[in-house]
Amino acid sequence: MPPREEEIVMRAIQLMQPGRPVEFHEVDIPLPGDGEVLVRVKAAGICHSDAHYRSGVTQAGPFPVIPGHEVAGIVESTGPGVASCKPGDRVCVHYLVSCGRCQYCSMGCEQFCGTGKMIGKHRDGGWAEYICMPYRSIFSLPAEIPVEHAAIMMCSSSTSLHALRKARLRGGETVAVFGIGGLGASAVQLAHAMGARRVFAVDINPVKLKLAAGLGCVPIDGAHGDPVAEIRKATDGKGVDVAIEVIGLPATMRQAVQSLAIQGRAAIAGLSNRTFEIASYRELLSPEAEVIGVADHLAQEMPLLLEFARQGKLKLDHVITRTVPLDAARINEVLDELDRFGDHVRTVIIP
Ligand code: NAD
Ligand code: ZN
Repeated sequence: MPPREEEIVMRAIQLMQPGRPVEFHEVDIPLPGDGEVLVRVKAAGICHSDAHYRSGVTQAGPFPVIPGHEVAGIVESTGPGVASCKPGDRVCVHYLVSCGRCQYCSMGCEQFCGTGKMIGKHRDGGWAEYICMPYRSIFSLPAEIPVEHAAIMMCSSSTSLHALRKARLRGGETVAVFGIGGLGASAVQLAHAMGARRVFAVDINPVKLKLAAGLGCVPIDGAHGDPVAEIRKATDGKGVDVAIEVIGLPATMRQAVQSLAIQGRAAIAGLSNRTFEIASYRELLSPEAEVIGVADHLAQEMPLLLEFARQGKLKLDHVITRTVPLDAARINEVLDELDRFGDHVRTVIIP
């Protein structure tokens, strides 16, 4: 349904300043300008990073900002000069808005674009009825992929894919994923899809460990016992070729490095503003281990990610554990739960 002429405001959630709960407000519906697309949001995920933006652990702004960087929906209207999509198309939204011309954009690493902005952090995101985006950030959604799945793929799965690619995972290698939350539940499946021989899934929450076992992983309970020792025991003392940290704790970042095999690669994606320690000789130099930072993901990774989901290699039914409406109190509760590492995996807002 196109917006009625008199429909000029929309329901939205806004973060007014860090350290404060998010709030419900009515704001103007954005108008698509040259090369822009107005998307009616059908689903928007709630990521642990949103809890970091709310608390101020990661700096967002300028404020107020509409959070939400996991967004999928239907094209409502397009501005002049848009030929790649049309009203009614099912689409998902790549969360980075970049210039497309600078050195980093030309190199295909648009997360470093000098004027780049992330939706839901630096500019308005998808916890609203509509979002306006440049056409280059809009990807067509294959019919096989439900819109709620597409939404959470826009960060949780895409960051996981980027982490595995940064870690240069090759077919036949072993992988350990630390944290089976929103990101980790995708990371283990994508590791299998990319040919991993064995995938260890470390968490401290029995609900998450059960989910991981159902996804064909070897569950490792970090709450009882030492996950590094468990991984070594299960790999004849060798360790894993690739470790992915998707929690954001110095202790588990270190465990990821400590669980590596000779010439293993640890990709760290969990956000923290604290330092973590590595025993330089024993854990880094001597095994020629690599520690790799993971920032966001790339538009060029979208086709592969969408194809994995279309083929059923990435299944998200059990990853979305609840939906909520555009209700500030409910959303603040979800963010509180993420801060406490609760039982839910991904929550999706249905506006
Ligand atoms: P989440 O809360 O859904 O998942 C975290 C998981 O870690 C939970 O299952 C929790 O039980 C588990 N956990 C907590 N403490 C643990 C411990 N000591 N040992 C083992 N497991 C433990 O979070 P998410 O949405 O999946 O995000 C994960 C992290 O990745 C967050 O810090 C988020 O901000 C970050 N992130 C980074 C990027 C990036 O570009 N680098 C992108 C998206 C998210
Ligand atoms: Zn995210």
